[in-house]
Order: sequence, then C-alpha cells, then structure tokens
Amino acid sequence: MQDFQRLGVYTSGGDAPGMNACLRAVVRTALANDLDVTGIRRGYEGMIEGDFVELDRRSVSNILQTGGTVLKSARSEAFRTEEGRRQAAEQLANNRIDLLVAIGGDGTFRGATKLHDEHEIPVVGVPGTIDNDLYGTDATIGYDSALNTAIENIDRIRDTADAHNRLFLVEVMGRDSGFIALNCGIGGGAELVLIPETITEMDMVKERILSLMSAQRRSTIVVVAEGDELGGARGIERALRDDQDFSDIDLRSTILGHTQRGGAPTASDRVLASRLGLEAVEALLDGHADVMVGLVNKDLKLTPLQNVFGRRKSIDYDLLKLTQILS
Ligand code: ATP
Repeated sequence: MQDFQRLGVYTSGGDAPGMNACLRAVVRTALANDLDVTGIRRGYEGMIEGDFVELDRRSVSNILQTGGTVLKSARSEAFRTEEGRRQAAEQLANNRIDLLVAIGGDGTFRGATKLHDEHEIPVVGVPGTIDNDLYGTDATIGYDSALNTAIENIDRIRDTADAHNRLFLVEVMGRDSGFIALNCGIGGGAELVLIPETITEMDMVKERILSLMSAQRRSTIVVVAEGDELGGARGIERALRDDQDFSDIDLRSTILGHTQRGGAPTASDRVLASRLGLEAVEALLDGHADVMVGLVNKDLKLTPLQNVFGRRKSIDYDLLKLTQILS
C-alpha cells in the first residue's frame, strides 16, 4: 500500500442536508487510518485560493445532525479552466495533500475527474445532492431530507387547500430530474405530477385539472418540478389565469425553493452519509481513484466518475403510473 499522508476533503455545488455527517465520517475514518486531514473551504474556489483548515476529531463534533455544510460550498468558474486547475493542484501539493474526497454532484465530479487526469491526484467522489440524479447510487445524500421537507410542506398546503377547495400548484426542486416531484407527489397525495423527464402539454394539464376539480369539488394539488418545460408553477399559473375556463377556480401557487435544501438531515441521510464517507476513505486507501462510492441494492459500490456523469439515472416510470391511478 502506498504511503499516503494527508487527505483533503471538500463540499461543492449545491449544498445538501447530510454533507456534514459525511464530512464527519471522512475525517474520523482518515484519522483512524493515521492520515492528517485538511478541510478545503468553498469547494474548488477555496482549493484554488488555498482556503484550507486543519481538521481533527473535535472539529467535526456535533455537526452530524446539522444541515448545510460547515466547509461552505461555492461555484467556481476558474476551476473550469486548465489554469485554474493547475493553481488548485499547486495548492494541494504545497500543502502535501495527496488524497482527495469530493462531496457533491455531477459538476463536482466532472471537475474532480479533470483534476485526477491532469494532475494525477487520487480522488473519490461521494454523491451529495438533493436531486438524486446521479447514476451509480440508489440515493444521494440529502435527497431523503429534501423529499421529507417537501412532503411536510405539501401536507400543510393540503390543509389550507381543502378548507377553501383551492387548486394549488406546488413547485419543488429538480431542474433536470423529477425524483423529488414524483416521490413527494406520491407521498403527499398530489392529484397531478409534472416532471422534466416526460412531455407535459398544457392542454392535457388543463383538461386533467378541470375534470378533477369538477368531479370532486375539493382541493387539488399539482406538484411540478422546477425544470418542467411549462415553466414551473408560475408558468402554469399564468396560462391558467389567461384561460376563461379557470376563472371560477381559486388558484394559488407556492414555490418551496430553498426550504428543501435546509434543515436537519433525516436518519436515513445520516446513515447513508456516514457509510459513504467511511467507504470513500477506505477506497482511496485501497488504491481506488476517479470513482464514486454509492449504495446500490443495499451494497456499497464503486462507479467510475466517467460513468456517473456520462449516464443518466432514470426515474421509475411505474411510479408515474401510480400517481395517475391513485389521484
Ligand atoms: P448540484 O447537482 O447540487 O448542483 P454540482 O456538483 O453538480 O451540484 P455544479 O455547480 O454543477 O454543482 O458544479 C460544481 C463546481 O464544479 C462548478 O462550480 C465548477 O467549479 C466545477 N465544474 C463543473 N463542471 C465542470 C467541468 N466540466 N470542468 C471542470 N470543472 C467543473
């Protein structure tokens, strides 16, 4: 086994509940294996600037249950350039960091693989994003928490929607993927779910809403992913307000937005984050690099980063059918 000395760890891209639990696991596993640990603040931006902090056992005490990321996250345009990555590699070398754990999403891994290819730095990725859109793992860290937040909010909206027989358009996160929308739609009993993976036609949406509302004369909730091609909740609201057929319908739209990113991670996210954090360090020590750790059918699995961002994780289309039958 190669004699590694110092592991660097960073969180990058969109923050997700459970990133701190993962950081804690990475730090404690590394220390248990006699590695020193450096926290890299603000993702690739901090890597380029050398915004580093020494981490010991106590630096990660009491963060397991917190949302956000104590290392902070950032987007970095500079890191997209070869020169930016050269500067980052120089900072790592100057600080004797010879192993890296990257906690983030698709973009984070694209950057990590370039760093690995251009500067031969062993890096292992951990899937941390609320979108759950990464190939190579059944769930990403933060997804379960975001989903539960969305469902909790839909339950609240249902109470008030029912009191007034209102139609509510509820927009949830998911620019390119409908995992949150689909599953909170089922869990929250939404009457209609609109996601980016399917073609959504306004005529169909209008027809469906009208038939639901006339049949039941009660509340109707439409869950729409932000990336749905009709322009999210606002886009649909505009179209409905312009239509005479909807003039008698009491219509409201709500964008759940960043509430889905914040808050304490669920038990499931804490356990996932802890397992994946430990596995990432062990994979590096076993000589693996340029891979992502994931949980597939209950087993820990390594997937080459190229495959993670080269393939698209598909939603379960049976679930879409389920929303249609149950509504
Ligand atoms: P999320 O899915 O939650 O948005 P993410 O990791 O996909 O997370 P991005 O903003 O796409 O978030 O990527 C994070 C950072 O990774 C970018 O700010 C950039 O510095 C780096 N990055 C993304 N794509 C590339 C690329 N093709 N080459 C080099 N670096 C990249």
